[in-house]
Amino acid sequence: MKYVSTRNKERVVSGAQAIVEGISPDGGLYVPQQFPELKKADWEKLCGMDYTERAAFVLSLFLDDFCYDELLTFAKEAYGRFYGEDPCPLTKVDEDLFFLELWHGPTCAFKDMALTMLPHLLTASKRKIGQEGKTLILTATSGDTGKAAMEGFRDVEGTSIIVFYPSDGVSDMQRRQMITQEGKNVCVCAIKGNFDDAQSAVKRIFTSEETAAKLAESGYKLSSANSINWGRLAPQIAYYISAYCDLLNAGEIKFGERVDFCVPTGNFGDILAAYYAMRMGMPEGRLICASNSNKVLTDFFRSGTYDTRRKFVETMSPSMDIIISSNLERLLFEYSGRDDKLTAERMNALKAQGYYSVSEGELAKMRELFGCGSCDEEETAEVIADYFDEYGYLLDPHTAVAAGVYGEQEEEKGVPCVIVSTANPYKFPADVLEAVAQVREDDPYEAAKKLNEFSGAPVPQPLCGLDKKPVRFDKVIEKGEIENFVLEKAKGGL
Ligand SMILES: *Cc1c(COP(=O)(O)O)cnc(C)c1O
Repeated sequence: MKYVSTRNKERVVSGAQAIVEGISPDGGLYVPQQFPELKKADWEKLCGMDYTERAAFVLSLFLDDFCYDELLTFAKEAYGRFYGEDPCPLTKVDEDLFFLELWHGPTCAFKDMALTMLPHLLTASKRKIGQEGKTLILTATSGDTGKAAMEGFRDVEGTSIIVFYPSDGVSDMQRRQMITQEGKNVCVCAIKGNFDDAQSAVKRIFTSEETAAKLAESGYKLSSANSINWGRLAPQIAYYISAYCDLLNAGEIKFGERVDFCVPTGNFGDILAAYYAMRMGMPEGRLICASNSNKVLTDFFRSGTYDTRRKFVETMSPSMDIIISSNLERLLFEYSGRDDKLTAERMNALKAQGYYSVSEGELAKMRELFGCGSCDEEETAEVIADYFDEYGYLLDPHTAVAAGVYGEQEEEKGVPCVIVSTANPYKFPADVLEAVAQVREDDPYEAAKKLNEFSGAPVPQPLCGLDKKPVRFDKVIEKGEIENFVLEKAKGGL
């Protein structure tokens, strides 16, 4: 299986190369040349496997420079760091309504599903392509990626990681998790700006030959832990396939029956993985793209125009506070009939004018599969309260956005829907507490304590004791200083 760039199909690389590079030098994203197909017998095999085996199986279809046993070793190490028995349990709350809980990992958000795997994939990929020297992982985060990436890469031989986050754009708990991060090879820095500022600066560094040369002097090559990296996306495909198997095993569906997925969306990585699972032969249901008040994707699926010329809104679901959803580029590539020139033109238009449009034909095709909707702050809080009242089930604000959008869809009776649950509610204790108990407590630890007393839901083990950890990183810089910061850190060996 080879990979091509969405902006130049002539650029063909192996899976290992795609993972090491992170992004193509032309600015495009790597996508598989074709999608492997799951046969009926494969599904039967998958149904008899545990999660680590399913993940290794799915990955082995995409990464043929790796063998199944090697991938299984990685998966066992990665998901062995999760708490509880199943790394991604499916919880049924009502008839035909399920939550796929992707937050049982070391940082309590779904990013762990991929970021515990990526360091294994990356270091092995470097060996496979014979790349020596150190890798510098640069990451822009809206709150969850940064922490999960540092946790994944901490003290991994031959790697260093620098994370940038918007100083006012993450929850207190997310900030505490990041600034207390342990590990010799990690560094995190706040910037005055929003997530898009951080992401644009990081992308610029990635495509600058001058910066690459300077970093090489310090012995570093760059790579990315954001979902532009294929090594981030591939492990995410596995949990959709696994959820389908779990529904089959539980007798909730018969093989071939449709299941809908409703996904709280920011950078369009998570929902794209669901789309890829369907391209591999998972029976097609609807994919509902749920946005918070930054509803650029909802507007896109309604109008066919992706328009970033709008105000950025800070919400209680900060990991979805994104205006430029990088992974949509991969979807555009597919729906344009894999037209690399057109994809490149659209991305250039986005950069130059802040918007682009797709054709009516493309939009109609997308809408056959994709639903969409958005949920504002007030609705999100109401949904959290309603689910707790009705089901005794506590939602984090991101998952609540998806639940709210699901509730607004014109329901087709008898179709099971899986709402993708992306974070543990204790990552956002102040907002969740306020939603269910109408009490405002800004201190995250006090809020968590009160939320626990009020709801009885257990505080996940990785968030306990965070208040006692020393702060290691308290620097805040201007967004224009990001590049210099990276160069200085690399010079000093971090
Ligand atoms: C990252 C994140 C999302 C959005 O996922 P994308 O792949 O960026 O669409 C949703 N919820 C949480 C909690 C996240 O951390």
